[in-house]
Amino acid sequence: MTTIDRPTIDAPTELLIGGEWRPAASGDRFDVVDPATGTVIATVANGGVDDALAAVDAADTAAAAWAATPPRRRAEILRRAFELMAERSEDLARLISLENGKALVDARGEVAYAAEFFRWYSEEAVRAAGSVMTAPSGTNRILVLQQPVGICVLVTPWNFPAAMATRKIGPALAAGCTVVLKPASDTPLTALAMGSLLHEAGVPDGVVNVVPSRSSGAVVSAMLHDPRVRKLSFTGSTEVGRILLAEAADQVVNTSMELGGNAPFLVFADADVDAAVDGAMVAKMRNAGEACTAANRFYVEAAVADEFARRLAERMSALVVGPASEEGTQVGPLINEEAAAKVDALVSGAVADGARAVVGGRRPSRSGFYFEPTVLVDVPSGSGILREEIFGPVAPIVTFVDEQDAVALANGSEYGLVAYVYTRDLARGLRVSEALDFGMVGLNRGLVSDPAAPFGGVKQSGIGREGGHEGVLDYLESKYVAVQW
Ligand code: NAP
Repeated sequence: MTTIDRPTIDAPTELLIGGEWRPAASGDRFDVVDPATGTVIATVANGGVDDALAAVDAADTAAAAWAATPPRRRAEILRRAFELMAERSEDLARLISLENGKALVDARGEVAYAAEFFRWYSEEAVRAAGSVMTAPSGTNRILVLQQPVGICVLVTPWNFPAAMATRKIGPALAAGCTVVLKPASDTPLTALAMGSLLHEAGVPDGVVNVVPSRSSGAVVSAMLHDPRVRKLSFTGSTEVGRILLAEAADQVVNTSMELGGNAPFLVFADADVDAAVDGAMVAKMRNAGEACTAANRFYVEAAVADEFARRLAERMSALVVGPASEEGTQVGPLINEEAAAKVDALVSGAVADGARAVVGGRRPSRSGFYFEPTVLVDVPSGSGILREEIFGPVAPIVTFVDEQDAVALANGSEYGLVAYVYTRDLARGLRVSEALDFGMVGLNRGLVSDPAAPFGGVKQSGIGREGGHEGVLDYLESKYVAVQW
């Protein structure tokens, strides 16, 4: 086994406020841990309410000049940020692996994906078009301007520490907004490195502020109650999303919510089973299953269920589990002990309900927060593992009898982020895609994420879209001017 060089951790570890790297006002710091070993890799300034409000001050000071910066200039800065990310991709990937634990192959994929949001929004920055029309009465014109929504608070999760930040910062900056980023406290180093890179790319002081904190509730709440903050973009669990929607209500803050998923993966008997197994491996195992888009429930038509389960189990058992620091690792540890224990409990619960593990099913005997790649069959349709986000490398398989049954099973969830469908019958594929209550569908494809496409969910998976042209609209307000000339 070849060991990969550790990255030199030259990521900043202070707060980024108004273009300066500062310690927390309280002097507090917190530890960042390598999930593969549990060892402390850095200590980071622990932002408090005073720091968060100082960051809002900085964002406010910078707001007017940034909104007035020519779109072409904003575009050039974002383009430069894309280029810098591409140049530093290997260092960034190693930093992500180190603090998040994901395999280097996944971290490299994330950096490439994350950088594309800067490229895409550098191209969108110059296309924030308004409109003009004649009023139906003919008496006046209806002029619609697109203006930046204002100061944005961006709250991101640990599972894609770079991409969830760039997916928000890219469109916010393109639209002319200033931001305060509050990253997940398990993975603050990548966010701080992004802040540094954006300044190097030419982002003026105060336009992007980064405030890691272990008191996320208090810090975000304080910012949402500052009347200068006009937008919250949150990616994380539905549970925290609900809290923040209530907090945002007090000042009627505009919200975008990218919340949990519980993705069904439907395989019809007429599917290309090779393609379905390939797609399942991507949809399930990207990031070791720690993705909101992860296939969480496999519904397979009875005629091909045994074959699909057998072939998926073969592929899952061949995966190399280990620390991201070893070249060849395909599945890294989960983020922390709590995550590994939760997956363990969900699998044990499913087995108690009557499911059978054809491969995996337990935590391997090594230190770190690992779980074996697992395929469960004979999972009863009421089992708890089908209702909750597993967020780990576990594929529960349930059989269905016909199309109506498949759609009903898939839609039987309060979540509605993404669904996957495998069939060779295009008419069925489109019919089922229309019938699924999800914001996105992968039709004969196990990967939907694309910076050029509108990503987002319905039901309790969220509000709003990130990526594509729709993504920049979330950071713009329409202003209507009734004009008579
Ligand atoms: P989480 O616990 O909801 O945390 C997300 C962010 O919110 C973190 O920065 C966290 O800070 C912060 N936070 C936690 N409690 C808060 C509170 N009371 N007030 C304000 N902020 C608070 O989610 P996670 O465990 O990091 O991420 C996994 C979840 O994210 C999964 O449910 C996954 O499906 C979802 N996700 C969704 C998408 C999507 O696009 N739909 C993408 C990726 C992930 P701390 O780290 O300090 O707790």
